[in-house]
Amino acid sequence: MQRNGIKMKEGEKDLLSLNDDRGVVFNIQRFSIHDGPGIRSTVFLKGCALNCPWCQNPESIRLLPEIITRDIKCIKSGKCADICPQGAISLAEGLRVIDWEKCDYCLKCAEVCPSKSIEVAGEHKSVDEVIEEVEKDSSYYRRTGGGMTISGGDPLVQWRFTLALLQKARQKGIHTALDTTGYARWEVLDDILNYTNLVLYDIKHMDSAKHKEATGVPNEPILDNLLKTVKKPEVKVWIRYPIIPGFNDQEEELEKLCEFVITLGPTVEKISLLPFHKFGELKYTATGKVYAYRDCTPLSDERVEELKGLISSHGLHTEIGK
Ligand code: SF4
Ligand code: SF4
Repeated sequence: MQRNGIKMKEGEKDLLSLNDDRGVVFNIQRFSIHDGPGIRSTVFLKGCALNCPWCQNPESIRLLPEIITRDIKCIKSGKCADICPQGAISLAEGLRVIDWEKCDYCLKCAEVCPSKSIEVAGEHKSVDEVIEEVEKDSSYYRRTGGGMTISGGDPLVQWRFTLALLQKARQKGIHTALDTTGYARWEVLDDILNYTNLVLYDIKHMDSAKHKEATGVPNEPILDNLLKTVKKPEVKVWIRYPIIPGFNDQEEELEKLCEFVITLGPTVEKISLLPFHKFGELKYTATGKVYAYRDCTPLSDERVEELKGLISSHGLHTEIGK
C-alpha cells in the first residue's frame, strides 16, 4: 500500500493495536507549552490513519520505525551500502543515494552508520519507560497546571498503548491531554476519554469530500465522535484548526466551522488556530517522502489575525498557535 510516498506493509496498522504494554514512540518532548495548559511532556506516538500532505511530522505517519537521513553528517563510509540487503543504497560520485522504492525499513543501515547520518525514527518503549520519563517533570506540572499530552501521528492508531499510558498517568495524579484526529471507532475513543482531562481535537475541513481528498479519510466519523465527546462534561475540548492556504483558509470555511462549534456547547473552551508553516519540509526528503506544499506561501500574520477576528465575532474564544 502506498499513498503520497508513505509506504505501509499490509497488516501493519493492526500490529500494535494488539499491544497494550509496548508502543512505538518517536519523541518525548519535555517542557512543551503548546499542547495543553501549563508545562507538559508531550509523548509523540507513531502511526496516523490520515495522510495530510501538509503534515509537519511526516516521520510520524508510518506506524513502525523507519530511517531518517541527515546528508550533512554523511562521511561516505559506504558501510550502509554494504549492509543493505535490498541494494537500496549506492554511493554515486561520493554521494550516498537511497532508492526509497527498494527500502523495506530493515534499519540495518542505521545500525552501522558511524556518523549517525542515518538514524531511526521511532523506538519501541514500554508504558513504564514512558511514564518514568514523564514523571521527571512532575514538580513543574504541579506548579504550572501542566501534565502529559499524548500526540503523534494520531494516538488512536496505537490505542491500546495510549489507553495504558493515560491510565498509568491518572494513577499517578498527572493531568492528561490527548491530541487527536478523532478518527476511530467511538468505543475506542470513549474508553480513552475516561482517562483524559483535555482533548485537543483536530478539525481540518467541514466538507467531507474535500477532507477525504486531502487526508484520505472522510470527516463524518470525526465530527460524529466530537458530538459524542462534548457530551462528556468531565472532558474539556480545545478544537484545533490548522489553517492551510487554499484548502481551508477561506472565510466561508471558517464561518462553517464556527456554526458547527457553536452547537457543541460549553465543553469546547476554545478554537486554536494553527497557521501552516514549512518547518517540516526537510523531513520529507530525509524520510523519502514527497512534500506537496514546497511552493506554498504561509499566510501573513495579518491574515491570520483577521481569521482569528472572524471567529471571535461569533463569541467564540480563539487563540493562535496554542
Ligand atoms: S533500512 Fe532500507 S536503506 Fe537501510 S539497509 Fe534496510 S533496506 Fe537498506
Ligand atoms: S492528522 Fe496530523 S499527524 Fe496525521 S497526517 Fe494529518 S497532520 Fe500528520
